[in-house]
Amino acid sequence: MANVAFIGLGNMGGPMAINLVKAGHQVAVFDLSETAVAHVVEQGASTFATAAECVKDAEFIISMLPAGKHVEGLYLSEQGLINHISQGALVIDSSTIDANTSRKVAAGLAEKGINFIDAPVSGGVGGAQAGTLSFMVGGSPEHFEKAKPVLDNMGKNIFHAGDHGAGQVAKACNNMLLSVLMVGTSEALQLGIANGLDPKVLSEIMSQSSGSNWTLDVYNPCPGIMENVPSSNDYQGGFMVDLMAKDLGLAMDTAVSSQSSTPMGALARSLYAMHATAGNGGKDFSSIFNLFSKQED
Ligand code: NAD
Repeated sequence: MANVAFIGLGNMGGPMAINLVKAGHQVAVFDLSETAVAHVVEQGASTFATAAECVKDAEFIISMLPAGKHVEGLYLSEQGLINHISQGALVIDSSTIDANTSRKVAAGLAEKGINFIDAPVSGGVGGAQAGTLSFMVGGSPEHFEKAKPVLDNMGKNIFHAGDHGAGQVAKACNNMLLSVLMVGTSEALQLGIANGLDPKVLSEIMSQSSGSNWTLDVYNPCPGIMENVPSSNDYQGGFMVDLMAKDLGLAMDTAVSSQSSTPMGALARSLYAMHATAGNGGKDFSSIFNLFSKQED
């Protein structure tokens, strides 16, 4: 069992840290929110007054923060953890951020002999609680192998995508595809409804036909077709529109930096930005279904 420091105990980080405690690791945690810390400490983690004290003896430092500026600030700023983490320790950043910031943090830490992998996740809050996340890792094969036993305690599928930043690129590609599938599924279902079809029957037809996809089969955006999905719970819980809009921004940055053409992703980004601006940022991303509704709310 290992000494692990875990920074960022929000919707995702909290349950991930708790799974490490349950697996028997010595886990020291830190978050700016005292409530978030208290919840994980109740499950057996220890805590310190500062993140710097928290990482002092850690072999693994895991961070799960909102965006790139938080990750860069945490590690590389003047008061950053770069001056407190032991040489040879492995930093695992699981936040979804831009690949260039991951590479910058990796290079900065390397100057002090500190190792780094980017390891963003897929699977949402449910996957974080159940310990069934997918991890997409960017870093050396050696550090991937070192991290794997720890990641196994929080996830089911652990992939090595390539060198530093590759995990973030894989995550951006996946979420861009997911958004395109969700938008396409929503407009197809609304087209059927507008032409008199029962969306449940249409869903069954498309699920058994070549239109089958995850958003239709597992996460249907039309209310009342599936139980236990956000669309049947007023689009509460799940994966927020604001977070999808952020991830699509990262995908577009990645496309611009590699001069790739991603017209479907660009359209999906605009639609999600519009949907968020209309006041839906806190709803689940399947609520984009309502954008194509012909009925007045
Ligand atoms: P969240 O806002 O619930 O949690 C972030 C936590 O980080 C908060 O508790 C905040 O207090 C803490 N924090 C911020 N700056 C800090 C600092 N300097 N030091 C210590 N703590 C700090 O966010 P979340 O939903 O847990 O998401 C975290 C990351 O995971 C994001 O990058 C998100 O895109 C990604 N992600 C989220 C989901 C999801 O379904 N929520 C799924 C996959 C990936």
